[in-house]
Amino acid sequence: MSKSRTASRPSGFIRPLVHNLHAYVPGEQPKIKGLIKLNTNENPYPPSPKVLRAVQTAVDGRLRLYPNPTAEKLRAKLAKLHGCKPENIIVGNGSDEVLALAVRAFVEPISEGRIPRVPNQKQPGTRGACPSETVQYFTPSYSLYPVLADIHGAAKNAVPLKSDFSTPSVAELKRGQQWNFNAALTLVTTPNAPSGRGYKTAELEKLCRAQKGVVVLDEAYVDFANENALKLALKYPHVLVARTFSKAYSLCFQRVGYFVGHPELIAALDKIRDSYNVNGLGQIAAEATLDDLKYYRVNFKKIIATREWLSRELTKLGFRVLPSQTNFIFAKPPLFPAQVWLQKLRNQKILVRWFRAPEVSDYLRITIGTPVEAAALAKTAWAILR
Ligand SMILES: *Cc1c(COP(=O)(O)O)cnc(C)c1O
Repeated sequence: MSKSRTASRPSGFIRPLVHNLHAYVPGEQPKIKGLIKLNTNENPYPPSPKVLRAVQTAVDGRLRLYPNPTAEKLRAKLAKLHGCKPENIIVGNGSDEVLALAVRAFVEPISEGRIPRVPNQKQPGTRGACPSETVQYFTPSYSLYPVLADIHGAAKNAVPLKSDFSTPSVAELKRGQQWNFNAALTLVTTPNAPSGRGYKTAELEKLCRAQKGVVVLDEAYVDFANENALKLALKYPHVLVARTFSKAYSLCFQRVGYFVGHPELIAALDKIRDSYNVNGLGQIAAEATLDDLKYYRVNFKKIIATREWLSRELTKLGFRVLPSQTNFIFAKPPLFPAQVWLQKLRNQKILVRWFRAPEVSDYLRITIGTPVEAAALAKTAWAILR
């Protein structure tokens, strides 16, 4: 194949790294009437009426103006909530954006000439890659992490969780020899996705203490969990906690997420951030959310109650449902392969998520919807099994 940049071959203009990328695969957003959508962990309850009003009121001629470039008011409110300073916080266009910023700020791309030709291929540990070039994470966890590493041209060190999706202890990680305690960036989804498993803060602290590079604790689902690890971001200079308004605060559409951490790390991330990365309506919606947290706390309780109800019902039907500390459950269905269940449920207008990766392909990930949606799922599953 010629490398010449000719107009007849547009691919010649594209960097080889980009040409070979496999983009992140988001859950489907189909527009099917009457669909029960349990595939992307969206909150089944709408934002608070006060949030809707705040956004509606803001939609006028002011849309011509640039928003506050540093989400100043939102950061002040978040600082108050978390007992820290605004300098401890950076807001992004969803937490996906701040995760991407972390890769760009803390990890060196693999030096010229050593970039793997097929970036998404399974890499055997970090052999050949320097720790400074390594993004490290457990598998399974958030499937965006390897994509972010590939986009940056960084090395990936994907280390398996234990078979019950718990994290290996520091001693086990040392013995296993695949884990890299010097990795520039380690990303931990806690509670875990897609398994729903929660991790103890004491455990996470041991891991953080053993790491020499930056550790991001991605707490996208933490409002549905028993504990959170936010204090670690305020205690250790190399620990960042990622939070999002998407899942627990019913605000996926507005794209607002943030990091809490040491002011020097936050300042570094701030340097490479787009000037107006958080849109104005998103800032307004997030600020109004923080003014009405009691509305959301009621929803957390409802979702947790529905989660426990659905877990019991599916267990009765023969599903192996893992204990969850999130707004979804991860369950191994009986009788048919999980991929077949995906299709059978879809035929009945219920959409859940299935991942092809071998370590999770026996499972369905089911978002917790309303009690009515959960009952419909249980009833449909019963009918499929009859
Ligand atoms: C949904 C999710 C995110 C992304 O959240 P946004 O703020 O919507 O970008 C980050 N991490 C995990 C583990 C998630 O499941």
